[in-house]
Amino acid sequence: MNAELDLALERRIGKRSAAVIEKHLGITTVDGLLNYFPRRYMSRGELTPISELPLDEDVTLIARVLSSSTRSMQARRGTITDVIVSDDDGQQGLRLVGGRDFRGKVPGTLKISFFNGYKAKTELLQGRRALFSGKVTSFKGQLGLTNPDFQLVDEDPFSDSGQDPEKLAAMPIPVYPATAKLPSWKIQKTIATLLETLDLDALPDPVPAEVSAREGFLPVSEAYRLIHAPESADDWRRARDRLRYHEALVLQSALARRRAQLAAEEATARRPVGDGVLASFDRNLPFALTAGQSAVGKTLAAELARDTPMNRLLQGEVGSGKTVVALRAMLQVIDAGGQSALLAPTEVLAAQHFDSIRRSLGPLSGDGLLGGLAGGNGNSVQVTLLTGSMPTAARRQAMLDAASGTAGIIIGTHALLSDNVSFYDLGLIVVDEQHRFGVEQRDALRAKARKPPHLLVMTATPIPRTVAMTVFGDLETSTLSELPQGRAPITTHLVGLAENPAWAARIWARAREEIDAGRQVYVVCPKIGTDDDGDFSPGEAAPPGAEGEEGRELASVTAVVDHLLAEPSLAGVPLAPLHGRQEPDLKTGTMAGFTANRIKLLVSTTVIEVGVDVHNATLMVILDADRFGISQLHQLRGRVGRGGLPGTCLLVTALEPGHPSRRRLEAVVATTDGFVLSQEDLKLRREGDILGASQSGGRSTLKLLRVLEHEDVIARAREDAQHIVGGDPLLAGHPELADAIEKYLNPEKEAFLERG
Ligand code: ADP
Ligand code: MG
Repeated sequence: MNAELDLALERRIGKRSAAVIEKHLGITTVDGLLNYFPRRYMSRGELTPISELPLDEDVTLIARVLSSSTRSMQARRGTITDVIVSDDDGQQGLRLVGGRDFRGKVPGTLKISFFNGYKAKTELLQGRRALFSGKVTSFKGQLGLTNPDFQLVDEDPFSDSGQDPEKLAAMPIPVYPATAKLPSWKIQKTIATLLETLDLDALPDPVPAEVSAREGFLPVSEAYRLIHAPESADDWRRARDRLRYHEALVLQSALARRRAQLAAEEATARRPVGDGVLASFDRNLPFALTAGQSAVGKTLAAELARDTPMNRLLQGEVGSGKTVVALRAMLQVIDAGGQSALLAPTEVLAAQHFDSIRRSLGPLSGDGLLGGLAGGNGNSVQVTLLTGSMPTAARRQAMLDAASGTAGIIIGTHALLSDNVSFYDLGLIVVDEQHRFGVEQRDALRAKARKPPHLLVMTATPIPRTVAMTVFGDLETSTLSELPQGRAPITTHLVGLAENPAWAARIWARAREEIDAGRQVYVVCPKIGTDDDGDFSPGEAAPPGAEGEEGRELASVTAVVDHLLAEPSLAGVPLAPLHGRQEPDLKTGTMAGFTANRIKLLVSTTVIEVGVDVHNATLMVILDADRFGISQLHQLRGRVGRGGLPGTCLLVTALEPGHPSRRRLEAVVATTDGFVLSQEDLKLRREGDILGASQSGGRSTLKLLRVLEHEDVIARAREDAQHIVGGDPLLAGHPELADAIEKYLNPEKEAFLERG
């Protein structure tokens, strides 16, 4: 608690201003307003390019008055003042406008109308520059603003007496996220009042003095003053650097503390045994582990054997062999008398894991009759599937096996999280394809174990280091960077139907060649039926530009199946649809048929995106590929080229060459490096999407820190945080940092009793 920061705003800026700020910005405390930062800064000399202003959004702009005219309204009392402003400093606009009677459209001008605008009429004189704030609309091609708030910029609004004009000209204008009702300069003015009345020297500083000295940071009071009221660009840059680091340190300290808390928990040690199921499994493994798999395996084995919980993120390219690493960890736990749960994001993937894990266990996969309590009996382990759509009797049996300890490995979807599922002795949780599970779900599953279980999170979408440090900052990271030997390269082609419609037929002839050679083919469509609006996987944002191309009929599973059944080059080929709206039995049956090579061609939605593993499939055709995001495309193509056979991926699009959405496809064609692609992908998304679930649940969002841009800030802050928390786990000697973490984690607790 800090007396100054937690103070209700009205105590510093007065009741009326505080009410306005609360109404429009939802901010009630000194801390909240102090940390409401300008989005950017404008210089007084700059004019905003008017043609680039977005329509129907709140904007703040600087423009110069070309002309102004006032007339009486005919139908009722009052006047209308029309002010034409320009982003052109020269005389050209003025000539074009040609005097008072402006009717035409002139590029780079904006027509601003005021009703009874006495202040506008007297202040917005020809040649003056002003800030305007409001929603820009377009009427018959002419951009306009109606009754916007404005502020002349040729004078300093906050000082009564004459400012040195040169100094004034150099002063940046902070631009706050604003609305028409509460324009940027009113926020600025309110904050100026706050800065005057506040005891800045009493502000807490969560950044330790030695770090500030090392970085050459401004004192915290200066930083707050200069970010809101800079006199030069250098001022706000230094202020922002300091406050950005401050934000990074608080975030990283929160994560470091969580890591420390997790590490202080007591888990059951699951030590390896010499002659258990794992040893038998290793003896029968049909391939040698890659160096990376062995190294990660050793790390996991050692961590599982400790009596503090393992909390590890395993990331690795599609096909890098994460599953076998996870399975070996599960077997170690089972040998030590515990159970392992594998959480998958979809039913198809859960079923697929169930089959492939039983297959790779071979005779080690027992039916449980011989098994003692908790999983293995030394030479076999029961693998159990538990999903929401299973028939009641089967589900009940699976739940019984989990609760009694008969089942050693329990594989399932979200259903594993439900309250009525319990375990005999859950020792390890493996979460596959993390990006669909949030921290809350991880915690829900952890809560089902008697003691905190070990946790392994796997993700195939490579995560840039900074995102890993931020979003998964409570986990240690391991990476599988090499692919197993014999992994054949995947060739990706862009098939542009706009420039060559004849290619459509060629695709199916190509599929036929593959099938005649004994191979199998995936065809992926963006939609299930002809009447739905697409089938983007949950959590996956529709890629930018994906909507709004009217009149284009997208490939759907049902329509494509019909089309292919009539396609001469595919005559006689056994093919089947697969999508999320099918009955679970049908889905499972279809996947089994494809795995057994009875079905040669599978037409599906992105249900096959993650984890599906059929070695004989060599061709992946993605229809309307522009409808998918980069990581989806990368995941999808990872489904082929798995069995030592070269894979081919065709990205089919009807978009014209040069269409912005084709750039995504070109990126996917250009590289198979998942890290490069995921950086590319994240650039196209908003920050909030990146932080996703970890930022929800009441936590405040990042203000000055950008996860992708500020890698070095995050890395330094992480190191400092680790150091601080390492030496002072309870932060007893760092009360101001502890306080800032508390605020970050529970922003809504801020509202303070000392109001009124
Ligand atoms: P992912 O990391 O994408 O989950 P998987 O675990 O599904 O990858 O592995 C892909 C395929 O590679 C599987 O068929 C698996 O059996 C095989 N595989 C895993 N490790 C090796 C290895 N060391 N050598 C050869 N094949 C391997
Ligand atoms: Mg996998």
